[in-house]
Amino acid sequence: MEITIKKASQKKRKAKPIDESNLGFGKVFTDHFFNIKFKEGKGWYDPIIEPYRPLQLDPTAMCLHYGQEIFEGLKAYRGEDGAIYLFRPNENIKRMNTSAERLCMPLMDEKIFLEAIKKLVILEKDWIPRGAGTSLYIRPTMIATEPALGVHPASEYLFFIVVGPVGAYYPQGFSPTKMYVSEEHVRATRGGTGNVKAAINYASSLYASRIATNMGYTQVLWLDAIENKYVEEVGTSNIFFLIGDELITPPLAGTILPGVTRNSVIKLASYLGTKVVERPISIHEVIEAAEKGTLKEAFASGTAAIVSPVGQLYYRHKDYFINGGKTGSLAEKLYNEILQIQYGLKDDPFGWRIKIMEGKKAKKG
Ligand SMILES: *Cc1c(COP(=O)(O)O)cnc(C)c1O
Repeated sequence: MEITIKKASQKKRKAKPIDESNLGFGKVFTDHFFNIKFKEGKGWYDPIIEPYRPLQLDPTAMCLHYGQEIFEGLKAYRGEDGAIYLFRPNENIKRMNTSAERLCMPLMDEKIFLEAIKKLVILEKDWIPRGAGTSLYIRPTMIATEPALGVHPASEYLFFIVVGPVGAYYPQGFSPTKMYVSEEHVRATRGGTGNVKAAINYASSLYASRIATNMGYTQVLWLDAIENKYVEEVGTSNIFFLIGDELITPPLAGTILPGVTRNSVIKLASYLGTKVVERPISIHEVIEAAEKGTLKEAFASGTAAIVSPVGQLYYRHKDYFINGGKTGSLAEKLYNEILQIQYGLKDDPFGWRIKIMEGKKAKKG
């Protein structure tokens, strides 16, 4: 299947942001987007990269009523010599298909998916910011578009990819977050959809997040829905605790999202000599370790921030400080290592990085 490319006229192109220190996240999008349609009996058809525009949807498009909507998030990075890299894109592609399967949506051909990302990123290469820690965020999305009411899997879908420049996550250095442990609300239940990137999970997380924010905390630390005891994840990131000399993270048991960064942190930390354990960990164990002083570090992992240190934990009307509220050395080390792999600044022992465009050749002589 050939991807048609229809370029926006120069006149219609947007002005690129001049101040890269002010990009933030998810506010600016480029001049083009990729989309492809699906119809039952016909399969995927009409892949195109075309000028960025609003979508046209029937008011009864099923995604609007029954929530068949899934997405992904990854980034393209510009190396020092101008080369462009992706980081483990096939993991995102596979995860999107796992999400599609769970929500009875059609699977996307992995080759077309990767080709669409590459072609779109290369077409929009001038939008990739140059500042340290900046990148081009890539958001693949799939929605049910069949115009019909009635709960059943839709027979028509739209898959699209938008990209936009995003700023460095820590322009002023690390700032540890404050977590609010939610006992009243849950994010996911066993047998539910917590292990896939589906829009429905995020809508239902907003209420607890608002409570946390109103109380001055950055993010919600979710506990398991059955015993209200085991730690699951934090906000939209996975969570790690360094207790004694062991780095502990909850297992992938169906209720947490299998983060690409989580997996990278596990592999890299082990490679660098830290013992990593995937096992259920209760909030009581975390609190006890915090009280005893054996909880050395806590940090979240995700594509947006790579690693986000946690400095404070609120549980049952009490605040606990982790590492004196400061960034731990393991979090910082892992952050730097992964960042350098992503930007082509050091060896990539795991083969995680894919170069999609060559940089300038070193000058001879
Ligand atoms: C996206 C996401 C993560 C992190 O996944 P990455 O692949 O590392 O970006 C973790 N938890 C939730 C709920 C998420 O949506």
